Amino acid sequence: MSNLTFPIELWEGFKPSHIEQHDRSLTIHLTPTSRPLCQCGAEAQRIHDTSIRRISERTILDYPVTLMVPVRRLLCHQCGTRTEHISWLKPFSRITERLANFVQSLCPLLPIKHLAQLVGLHWHTVKELDKARLRREVLEPK
Ligand SMILES: [Zn+2]
Repeated sequence: MSNLTFPIELWEGFKPSHIEQHDRSLTIHLTPTSRPLCQCGAEAQRIHDTSIRRISERTILDYPVTLMVPVRRLLCHQCGTRTEHISWLKPFSRITERLANFVQSLCPLLPIKHLAQLVGLHWHTVKELDKARLRREVLEPK
């Protein structure tokens, strides 16, 4: 597919460059649209290197989606060499915040095994998301 545009910005700071359709899944390759920012918020002095990270995203019309994201390491005048800040992706994460929030919203409703099958994530990934949700929402008993 080419000349593909989305009517809304789905991935802040990035846009799709091309999409591959496999048997029953989509791989969307992203390209940056802005200069990278450091985790501290400062603008990069220069880009140190770039690596492509495979990220799981929510499904589009029942097609599981994998994003290929060029994540840049930059030279910051305050922090040194750091990985760039991406608003929709936590550091070291392999799933988007959108997918994490979706899974966490379903955790109270579905068993972990069924939820993992539904979203195409490993059981342990869903369990860790549920634990993070519980730490955030449930207070320790006194
Ligand atoms: Zn910095």
